[in-house]
Amino acid sequence: MPTHPLYIDGAFAASSSSDTIPVLNPATQEEVARVPAGNDQDVDAAVRAARRAFDEGPWPETTAQDRGRILFALANAVRERAAELAELETLQSGKPIVEAEFDIEDVATCFEYYGGLATKIHGEVVPVPDKAMSLALREPIGVAAQIVPWNYPLLMATWKLAPAICAGCTAVLKPAEQTPLTALALASSFADAGLPPGVVNIVTGRGEGAGAALVSHPGVDKIAFTGSVEVGKAIMRSASDSLKKLSLELGGKSPNIFFADADFEAAVDGALFGIFFNQGEVCSAGSRILVQRPIYAKFVEAMAEKAKTIRLGPGLDRETKMGPLVSREQFDRVRQYQAIGKREARLVAGGHRATGGALDRGWFVEPTIFADVDNSARIAREEIFGPVACVIPFDEEADAIRIANDTYYGLAAAVWTRDIFKAMRAVKALRAGIVWVNHMQPTYVEAPWGGYKQSGFGRELGRWGVDEYLQTKQVYINLDEQPVGWF
Ligand code: ADP
Repeated sequence: MPTHPLYIDGAFAASSSSDTIPVLNPATQEEVARVPAGNDQDVDAAVRAARRAFDEGPWPETTAQDRGRILFALANAVRERAAELAELETLQSGKPIVEAEFDIEDVATCFEYYGGLATKIHGEVVPVPDKAMSLALREPIGVAAQIVPWNYPLLMATWKLAPAICAGCTAVLKPAEQTPLTALALASSFADAGLPPGVVNIVTGRGEGAGAALVSHPGVDKIAFTGSVEVGKAIMRSASDSLKKLSLELGGKSPNIFFADADFEAAVDGALFGIFFNQGEVCSAGSRILVQRPIYAKFVEAMAEKAKTIRLGPGLDRETKMGPLVSREQFDRVRQYQAIGKREARLVAGGHRATGGALDRGWFVEPTIFADVDNSARIAREEIFGPVACVIPFDEEADAIRIANDTYYGLAAAVWTRDIFKAMRAVKALRAGIVWVNHMQPTYVEAPWGGYKQSGFGRELGRWGVDEYLQTKQVYINLDEQPVGWF
């Protein structure tokens, strides 16, 4: 299997490491490619290239209009290559091809959004009580280290690259070791889109190798990370040495709350979509399903019935609704939580490895639902990052809010009711960075994304996303020709 090169300083380049990482198709466990396990030298070369591109030229002289055009060109390249990129995304991550196609369209939309925003970033003139002009300028932070996970490989990379380019930063991206192929594939369109060498660099590798080297590199000004809480905390410790700016999008254990007056059919559908979409490998997955007592029994029964009909299969099959989990490690993790759940709660659907025909070859697990879960159970407290739902009954509105907020996480929450007053009380009381009403998961590039509590800090997407790549410079211009006359 040939090893893919890294992308550094505007060209594909061999790694200085001979160590490689196999990329496996989760539907078959077969090796589909190899990428370098980048080392300290590779990271150093990439950061130096990003540093040069930021400090020298031509990038610092590029106008906002130029950066906008580059981002539009990237959006076009993604659209032209959509079929190829979607297939590659499914091949490495396992996700259903129809979902991968949505992801790639979202990638194009994200580049486009930040292409439009590039010309709308500007500073302010501040009124000061003197004969002077005070300006607040918005300037790019510098070199960004961007570390992304495997669940939405190219989309998570784009959520970071597009605002960085928009702001005038340069970047070194480290994809997840399981899913590096789409970012590397897109790199072949960078030069044609007009990105000068060094503006975006890609180093593949392991978290504790290339990832750790990147976040501790003195040439990096800012770190943007999406991944687990543990790694987020380790990165924060490492970043404190040189006080690098930081944005962290970490995990979740998001509540999806169903009041008795909700539209029943839409509610059951929303509960299933909230947790089983993308195999449950979603940081905002609605993994704690809170259901009000009067509809609880019927709700659990309807969910379990429908979960059993979800079509599992290889992601490349267009009929597939749920693909395999991304890796052996993730498969083992979910299987372990299925076992823990059986001790802690009542299993009403799934609970096993999914088998039969093509499923035997890949890391497939059944969509799993546990009912009568206590919010103190491990399956209700720990992020599983797979298709395992906890259904928790509640009586009063206040109980629902208390249970929903009883978690270290605070990424997302959803509430389903026909009562607008109840919905708005919940919106206000829920401690989460994203709250959906009568839906779960819709995500728009225009709106802010990020968590409360240990789900992290900083916001991605929208104009909030670009703020993470900008810093503010205060400028004072004296308009008074008289000397100060103090001494
Ligand atoms: P998951 O458990 O979902 O794989 P991780 O937080 O372990 O999530 O990984 C998310 C990303 O962080 C991946 O790109 C991974 O390689 C990277 N990573 C893991 N450990 C470290 C580390 N110590 N320093 C920097 N990056 C890391």
